[in-house]
Amino acid sequence: MSGKLTLGEHMSQRGVSRRAFMKYCSYLASTMALSPAMAPAMAQGLAAARRQAVIWLSFQECTGCTESLTRSYSPTLEDLIFDFISLDYHHTLQAVSGFAAEEAREASMEENKGKYIVIVDGSVPTRDGGVYSMIAGRTNLDILAETIENAFAVVAVGTCAAFGGLPYAKPNPTGAVPISDLVGSKPLINIPGCPPVPEAMTGTLAHILAFGELPALDDKHRPLAFFGESIHDRCYRRPFYERGLFAKSFDDEGARKGYCLYEVGCKGPIAYNTCATTKWNGGVSFPIQSGHGCFACGSPNFWDQGGFYKSLPSKTTSIGKMAAAAAVTGAALGAGAAFVASNSKKQAAKET
Ligand code: SF4
Ligand code: SF4
Repeated sequence: MSGKLTLGEHMSQRGVSRRAFMKYCSYLASTMALSPAMAPAMAQGLAAARRQAVIWLSFQECTGCTESLTRSYSPTLEDLIFDFISLDYHHTLQAVSGFAAEEAREASMEENKGKYIVIVDGSVPTRDGGVYSMIAGRTNLDILAETIENAFAVVAVGTCAAFGGLPYAKPNPTGAVPISDLVGSKPLINIPGCPPVPEAMTGTLAHILAFGELPALDDKHRPLAFFGESIHDRCYRRPFYERGLFAKSFDDEGARKGYCLYEVGCKGPIAYNTCATTKWNGGVSFPIQSGHGCFACGSPNFWDQGGFYKSLPSKTTSIGKMAAAAAVTGAALGAGAAFVASNSKKQAAKET
């Protein structure tokens, strides 16, 4: 693929019709809570975009985030966008190793000063000078500081990078911290999840490619388009919750009838993520549809929040009602952004 091609030319070479491209842009614009009128602007921006240099750093992580991004069942437009970026450094996907790999990172930083994006998965150990995770003889702390210095923005993918995740869970022996603790004033996007939903990653990248700026974020730096509503608010089992019909165990009559999973530990009411809408594996299903409650894997401290199969302290319908009321107000005013901002404040009050 030529580095001189625009994304529009790249798509056309890969056999994507203009109609399919426009359809994708309309879908993306609506997913990202942009007005329908923004779809042509998004299409224009994406079509004219040139390859974006990306340096991907992996620290204390399990590679699940990369697996999530690369496990697509069929080549989608999202895949093509991912193909289109210039992934100049990525431990798992790069062909080179050793000195050549580090040279590729340094060359990309030099050639793309102020323009490249740094994607990080994994948290960073800080105890004992950061010696618990080293790459090429250098601490993660050192490599992160050097790499983000001239970056356009940092994208923390996965709950480990966004909120510390498993390494950060008690007793946190390595002194792990999330990326937000280390980036200072550098623009930061958090895309949490264990792993994150692939469409949240590619959609965010598509937004940056199209508009040259970060999408609207909540108070935790998450794109509102994908994290603005709770799993509970979009869950198809919600009517059972409202009627007080709950599965009491995973093999009882209620479970067979598809009742709400709240009492077997579903954390959907406190989970802000896009699974109930985007779903997984190309939109096939998501955990609740498969009979298992949500763990709120994209929330801060989800490993320490007290029992994956314990139900939340008290049932409440207020979260959904507040969001619905705000949505109506936003629509009436023709101000989606107002809804998003007010929803974001409610999120801040609900999550810790
Ligand atoms: Fe769905 Fe869980 Fe909410 Fe029940 S508690 S409606 S299963 S998200
Ligand atoms: Fe994470 Fe909940 Fe989505 Fe499962 S349903 S991936 S636990 S946010």
